[in-house]
Amino acid sequence: MAEKSGTMKKTNFDLYLEEQLQDPAIAARLKHAGEAWDVALQITALREQAGLSQKDLAKLLKTSAGQTAYCPRCRVVTNLYESVTLRFITGPGGDEKIIESRAYHCEACLIFVRGDEG
Ligand SMILES: [Zn+2]
Repeated sequence: MAEKSGTMKKTNFDLYLEEQLQDPAIAARLKHAGEAWDVALQITALREQAGLSQKDLAKLLKTSAGQTAYCPRCRVVTNLYESVTLRFITGPGGDEKIIESRAYHCEACLIFVRGDEG
C-alpha cells in the first residue's frame, strides 16, 4: 500500500506540480485529487484577497465550525482545534482514493480529544 502525505511549501508548488505532472500515474492521481486542491487553492486566494493571515482564517473557520467537546484534562466543554490531513492511498487493485482524516485538539490544553476518518 503506497501512502503519501500531502504537505508542501506554497512557494514551490508550481515547480512541484510541473515535475509531478510529467509522471502519468501522478498526473492521474492529481486529477482525482483535483477537487480537493481546487478548494484549497480557492481558500488561499480568498484569504489573500481578504487580507487575512492563516491564523485569522483558522479562527474564522473554527468559529463557523463550532466544534466543542468535553476535555478530560480541563474537565470542561472547550472549543476544539481541527486539523485535516489528506492521504493518497493506492488499493490492491490499483484504485486510488483520498483519505481525509480530521483530528480535534482541545483549544486550551491542546490534548488530542478525538479523530474522524472517512
Ligand atoms: Zn483541555
